Amino acid sequence: MIRRALALLVFLALAGSVTGGIWWRSLSDALARLEDRGRADLALAGDRLLGQLQRYREMTVLMADHPEVLRLALDPEADAGQADRLLRRTADMTRSDELVLTDRFGKVIASSGPDHGADMSSGPYFRRAMQGALGFHHEIDRSSGRRLFVYAAPVFSPEGPVVGTLITRVETEAVEVIWRGEPMIVFFTDTDGIAFVSNRDELVLVRLDLLPGEEGTVPADLLRREVRRIDRHEIWDLDGGPYLPARALHLTRPLPVIEMTGEALVDIAPAERQAMLEALLAAAACIVIGTAIYALLERRRALAVQLATEAEANARLESRVEERTRELSDANDQLQRAQADLVRAGKLSALGQMSAGISHELNQPLTAIRSYAENAGLFLDRGQNDKAVENLGRINDLAHRMGRIIKNLRAFARQESEAMSDVDLGQVVAASLELSEARLRAAGVTVDWTPPVRAVWVRGGEVRLQQVLMNLLANAADAMEAGGLVTIRIDRIAGRVRLTVTDTGPGIAEPDRVFDPFYSTKEVGASEGMGLGLSISYGIVKSFGGAISGRNRPEGGAEFMIELDPARKARAA
Ligand code: ADP
Repeated sequence: MIRRALALLVFLALAGSVTGGIWWRSLSDALARLEDRGRADLALAGDRLLGQLQRYREMTVLMADHPEVLRLALDPEADAGQADRLLRRTADMTRSDELVLTDRFGKVIASSGPDHGADMSSGPYFRRAMQGALGFHHEIDRSSGRRLFVYAAPVFSPEGPVVGTLITRVETEAVEVIWRGEPMIVFFTDTDGIAFVSNRDELVLVRLDLLPGEEGTVPADLLRREVRRIDRHEIWDLDGGPYLPARALHLTRPLPVIEMTGEALVDIAPAERQAMLEALLAAAACIVIGTAIYALLERRRALAVQLATEAEANARLESRVEERTRELSDANDQLQRAQADLVRAGKLSALGQMSAGISHELNQPLTAIRSYAENAGLFLDRGQNDKAVENLGRINDLAHRMGRIIKNLRAFARQESEAMSDVDLGQVVAASLELSEARLRAAGVTVDWTPPVRAVWVRGGEVRLQQVLMNLLANAADAMEAGGLVTIRIDRIAGRVRLTVTDTGPGIAEPDRVFDPFYSTKEVGASEGMGLGLSISYGIVKSFGGAISGRNRPEGGAEFMIELDPARKARAA
């Protein structure tokens, strides 16, 4: 939120400075153009004023040389009527206010007007003319209040000295009227700072160099102004009524020839309007661009949020999967450990069961051996040697049988770390049958087993295979408590060796589940019924790279098949 506000502030500041910069640039450009044009116009106005005054100046000089003028100047007492007429005609033709001729003391001796005998000697232009130069001055006529330009030319006697002056007075109106209608305000100020000539009445005789509050000799508060600068331009803020611009560009151009300064005021309203327009356009552009950027950023942000949410969900999912996997593999490890423990436990319990059966198995021959031995002693006493030999032979057979049983038992009890080796499957079946004989016989089960003619070698562990087979035989015996037939077969199929154990029992209740650990249909507390026999067998066969499966035969009874890899090279039986 704070970042957004900050971004908005930065954007506003940027947009503001861009807009302001464009406004400034545009204003100063427009002012520069106004100034160029204004300067040219001001130069033109100055030249025009000078040009108009030039006419009077030349006329004054020419008239001073006029023979009639010279004649009267040389003889001031002579009749002035002709000179008066000449001056009046000239004044009329040139629209001068007045032409007068003075003697060398400044007394008027001829005039286009009525002021004969007036004293002009006080005018600075008169003194200049008496020195032989052209006098020029501007003044305000005290009686009429008119503004006048005055030229005074010396009238030279043929011998050389100045004998009088010819003075021309020109009303400023005569020159002002010409550029009255121009849009640019022009005025010419004298050395006192008074606007002597202007194309706006409001400015005439106003002291423009005074700031508000300053006292001037002429009414200064007609015009209130303040000066400021924009760029290198001087701007006047005016309060001069409806005919003067409120803000104007002030330009100056010195006119040393008439000891004045040409000044101009150019209305800057158009420049301001243009600058404002361009600034508004820039602001609009900024707003459009800003909005576009904002929209883009918003979209990006929304996308980023979406991506982040998805990434988070993914990460959560992944971590859950990982956790689950870990749990599962832990459970698997535990299961394997438990299975290994159970294999051991199962073997021990099988051993317990077997030792009971086997002690019974061993007792029987032992009792028989005892009675055979006793009888053999009796036969020897009686001298029936052949019978005694027969008994001894039987004893020998029984001892052999006992030896075999004990051998199997030892092999079975050996710790289960035997490596994989080549095993004779027929031998395994024979040993298993021998160890399970008691159990099978107790259930009244007949065994159909034809040992193969030649040894069938497979890859596996002898004792473990024996355990698997004994388990299958025990299950068959369990399934056929009321007697039945177990058939054991060995076949070679598709490069593998298959051992099949079938029975004639009721069949498997749920063939899909028989290899599940702890799946048992047998009652708890019965002789077996842990539900582990087949699952352990499954693990054992798998560890040999083989497969075990169980199904119900169509003709009734269960069928279990073990497939094993044959030994790498056939061995002699
Ligand atoms: P247990 O013998 O302890 O019950 P097993 O894993 O050896 O455990 O057997 C699991 C189950 O498979 C038995 O409870 C039984 O229901 C079924 N089963 C195994 N062998 C046979 C068979 N030959 N005939 C019918 N059912 C069988």
